[in-house]
Amino acid sequence: MKPAPFEYHAPASTEAAVELLAELGDEAKVIAGGQSLMPMLALRLAVPEHLVDLRRVERLCGIESRVDSVWVGAGTTHTTVGRSAEINRAVPLLARATPLIGHAQIRNRGTLGGSVAHADAAAEYPAVALVLNAQLETLSPRGRRTLSASDFFTGMWSTELAADELLTGIVFPARRGRCGFAIEEFARRSGDFALAGAVVAVGLDADSHIDRCGIGLFGLGPTPIRSTDLEAELIGRNSAEVDLHEVGRAATEPLDAVPSDLHGTADYRKRVGAVMVARAWRRAVEEATND
Ligand code: FAD
Repeated sequence: MKPAPFEYHAPASTEAAVELLAELGDEAKVIAGGQSLMPMLALRLAVPEHLVDLRRVERLCGIESRVDSVWVGAGTTHTTVGRSAEINRAVPLLARATPLIGHAQIRNRGTLGGSVAHADAAAEYPAVALVLNAQLETLSPRGRRTLSASDFFTGMWSTELAADELLTGIVFPARRGRCGFAIEEFARRSGDFALAGAVVAVGLDADSHIDRCGIGLFGLGPTPIRSTDLEAELIGRNSAEVDLHEVGRAATEPLDAVPSDLHGTADYRKRVGAVMVARAWRRAVEEATND
């Protein structure tokens, strides 16, 4: 199938883009890399009358080191994120998540902001943003605002963004102290969305007690999920005494909205999820221990 006819707009600035969105209302849709939206247009799952293309908006692209963080423009492609020496150094989890997204062609066009705004519950970047406590910067005709990743994802493919609001950039805290990061996922074929995946960030004090941790799950509910109760229980424990299989079980047992479809039942996904958490936990703790 081909997309239904639409009018094409290519504003040169974020301000012009949000003005257009406000003017065109519900009939308009933003397009960035098109890697999620184009298939939806082709299948006529989305039928906007206007497409507002962000490709000409230079200010949406780039990677900027700040004092304790790294800012990444929403229009920065997955490939640029994955190849950035600064991201590899300061936000290694984001770099490690990148090769797991689709295929090289998709990563060449797809953008960080597109992935996070699309909010697919099985996508890697939203889970990474959640676990790293990323701050999401937006612009609308009402001005700028900054949202925590923990407040951003509201349901399957839905977020806090208003219809006339753009995601402009994401601020990721830079790694500090003794820490380790890992992402693990299971997909039936390389490049497919994961059936279940886990993201772990862990910090250790000088005696190897856990002083910070984040455990995130993707593909296991309507949004990326953070295991906040489990994280609180783990803080203060000696990392060598934590049973990784117990961490996997404890992260997945409370889940009550796991998808069940022809790719896998909810029970199967939960069991795979527990293994992904255990693997990610082991790798993150190993890295922090050797840091
Ligand atoms: P688009 O497709 O252009 O837009 C997606 C949505 O976000 C649209 O609703 C659009 O209006 C909105 N949007 C885009 N930018 C902004 C912005 N700045 N502000 C507000 N709204 C915005 N993704 C994964 O995470 N993991 C995978 O394993 C994976 N596998 C894939 C396999 C295939 C075969 C394909 C086709 C895609 C796959 N994807 C996967 C999706 C891919 O990562 C997309 O690039 C990404 O989800 C969307 O980024 P985009 O820039 O292409 O956004």
